[in-house]
Amino acid sequence: MSDITKGAPGVPQAGTPASFALDFGKAWEYAPAPESPDHVKIAPKYELFIGGKWTAPQSKKYFDTVNPATEQKLAEVAEASAADVDAAVVAARTAFEKYWAKMPGKERAKYIFRIARAIQEKARELAIVETMDGGKPIKESRDFDIPTAAAHFFYHAGWADKLEYAFHGRKARPLGVAGQIIPWNFPFLMAAWKIAPALACGNTVVLKPAETTPLTALLLAQIIEECELPPGVVNIVTGAGATGAALVDHPGIDKIAFTGSTAVGKRIQRAVAGTKKRLTLELGGKAANIVFADAPIDQAIEGIVSGIFFNQGHVCCAGSRLLLEESVHDVVIRKLKDRMATMRLGDPLDKNTDIGAINSKAQLERIKELVASGELEGAERHSLACTIPEKGYWFPPTFFTNAGQAFRIAREEIFGPVLTIMTFRTPDEAIEKANNTMYGLSAGVWTDKGSKIFHMATQLKAGVVWGDTFNKFDPSSPFGGFKESGFGREGGRQGLGAYVEVE
Ligand code: ADP
Repeated sequence: MSDITKGAPGVPQAGTPASFALDFGKAWEYAPAPESPDHVKIAPKYELFIGGKWTAPQSKKYFDTVNPATEQKLAEVAEASAADVDAAVVAARTAFEKYWAKMPGKERAKYIFRIARAIQEKARELAIVETMDGGKPIKESRDFDIPTAAAHFFYHAGWADKLEYAFHGRKARPLGVAGQIIPWNFPFLMAAWKIAPALACGNTVVLKPAETTPLTALLLAQIIEECELPPGVVNIVTGAGATGAALVDHPGIDKIAFTGSTAVGKRIQRAVAGTKKRLTLELGGKAANIVFADAPIDQAIEGIVSGIFFNQGHVCCAGSRLLLEESVHDVVIRKLKDRMATMRLGDPLDKNTDIGAINSKAQLERIKELVASGELEGAERHSLACTIPEKGYWFPPTFFTNAGQAFRIAREEIFGPVLTIMTFRTPDEAIEKANNTMYGLSAGVWTDKGSKIFHMATQLKAGVVWGDTFNKFDPSSPFGGFKESGFGREGGRQGLGAYVEVE
């Protein structure tokens, strides 16, 4: 293993002595610039949001949610049992029949618009809580997660009274009650992705956030309460896998929308088989970022690092495989190391932090296990030698060279800041290698030839192909997978289709 060393005094810590050192001196050192959480109020205890009321769980059970950067407990959160899920589904059904399905689209739009505005007003607080509960850098939650979530509500507010135009003049009916289960990597944004289109199309919702990151979904429930949505239109039930399974199994649910691991997605698919429930799944990924020799290399380096390292690689569409045209392999590796050496890992609330904390201990163990397998299988590991805070869950940005396509690090989703680099000689070989995965969520192509991007995009089996950029999102752009990355699209006109019956 080699360390990528900043060269700043006292910085390198872990691992063997650096095999090379980049001496930037103090050029990249910044004074701490932490965002203050002082004005943010996190309650000691959160109940379930059912039928417009904050309700204690029938099980009387609560679980802790902790800050993964400090291991400090942030709050206790209710654990919804099957009985609580049932109450939430009943509340959603009542709200569907009594208010929401009957309400003209232009009235629904006003509520959705109001939520979008309220998110903007509370953006700072939401970003801080997102960062504290999930470990992601504040610049990610502040500049991406929360504004994009607001954008999803604005976008869908616009569709609520125009659905007939989305389906070419055909009438679109809501499905009924949508059960929505989301993961921990974009807790607030995923809630927005799920709730906004469901509401725009006239459905009511029972949403279950992930057990390690429930807080911002609960803040969203508070926003929904303040926006005076009719009771039961949105219900938030917190809990772990058993709560999610109770939602999936509930006979009163008309549609399940799930984002999470492929393993759980398959379990859900089996559970809803043969029922009336509609299903969309957005699952794992092992995206290939393909860099041709004629690519704008410096720009590609930015796309590579933002695609896998920022946000700790906690992104299902992360560019976790890098395919380099052989002739630029060495120059890209050199520039990548230089760029990585400028990255800062540490306090997620610091505005200069690039790499935050790993979301949970369990996830850190999984990353370590897969990285160890990469070394064992013979790939060469390069990790940034950086100061790892004493408390919390952390993993330094790492890439592997000399990896084979059959290695676990090239096949399995690591969900951490770990990049597996391989090479190719021809576009066909790049396509074959990029498609050599059970996943198909996203891909990136870097070249100065637009025609090459279009050619690759038609051949790559991925729901999203980015050209000369990576990880760009817009509410009007449908997102979803091929193969074991799932089915159905979220966002855009296509995303509305998942929440309606078209006559
Ligand atoms: P990740 O690897 O992203 O944590 P998971 O698939 O384990 O993905 O979790 C995603 C979401 O699915 C979480 O909200 C989790 O609580 C929920 N979940 C886990 N197991 C089940 C299950 N058997 N049925 C329904 N939801 C589940």
